[in-house]
Amino acid sequence: MIKATTINEVKENVREWKRQGLTIGLVPTMGYLHEGHASLIERARKECDKVIVSDFVNPIQFGPKEDLATYPRDFEADCKLCESLGTDLIFHPEPEEMYLDGFHSYVGVDTLSAELCGKSRPIHFNGVCTVVSKLFNISEADKAYFGQKDAQQLAIVKRMVRDLNYNIDIVGCPIIREDDGLAKSSRNIYLNSDERKKALILHKALTKGEELVREGEKDVKKVIKTIRDIIESEPIARVDYVEIVDWNELQKIDKIEGPILAAVAVYIGEKVRLIDNFVVE
Ligand code: AMP
Repeated sequence: MIKATTINEVKENVREWKRQGLTIGLVPTMGYLHEGHASLIERARKECDKVIVSDFVNPIQFGPKEDLATYPRDFEADCKLCESLGTDLIFHPEPEEMYLDGFHSYVGVDTLSAELCGKSRPIHFNGVCTVVSKLFNISEADKAYFGQKDAQQLAIVKRMVRDLNYNIDIVGCPIIREDDGLAKSSRNIYLNSDERKKALILHKALTKGEELVREGEKDVKKVIKTIRDIIESEPIARVDYVEIVDWNELQKIDKIEGPILAAVAVYIGEKVRLIDNFVVE
């Protein structure tokens, strides 16, 4: 497995692979990899000749009061996992390599970025779209793999690719969970053992909400209230949002008529903010 830290190293390899007519799959990550990331890499391995994993904690997608400095990192462990899954190249640049002095160019998708996480993280999705655009250009990938764990991100990246005519297929992959149902996340490491147990309330609440929707409940307020009440029954859980939006434009709705995304963001204890969701097509 090639370990690249510069954009030029990646481009040199890509040029050679393209010359040989090989297809390239890209898995963008912020590292501290777990089985959720592994599922994306495995899918890319199956579908593409060459697999690139980017491992980069992207500073421009973090707000000033967010956890950029403390975001967990373990590049050696990431390399081991990537290598065991047959990754061809891991790209691990320094922030200065990605953002040169005088960097002033940003990509953003409005409307879809306005609700859900966009409300409490106003610069987040422009940071994501910008880094993802750069990674698409650097890797010249044919396909890129994203988890439904970050459903809003997946919808936004798909829209950016459609609207701006990127030559890449976006593949959405299902949420991978712990045995007890907690969605796998690099941020789960922040939870102490008591918080870890109580964080299960997200999955419990969403499972009940999904059941209601699948049984035919159309009233969004009712479903949201059910989810919110279950989460708020746990004293150390503080709701950032519980929302149901249409799974196309990510706008709030009153009635469930077409495909929906139900998403929650919840603080467990003082600082750990977890997200989870379900989609009903
Ligand atoms: P991150 O490193 O958190 O930025 O995530 C990188 C990619 O892995 C994103 O496309 C995420 O949606 C995806 N991902 C993270 N956690 C999971 C999970 N539990 N299941 C599926 N995909 C995930």
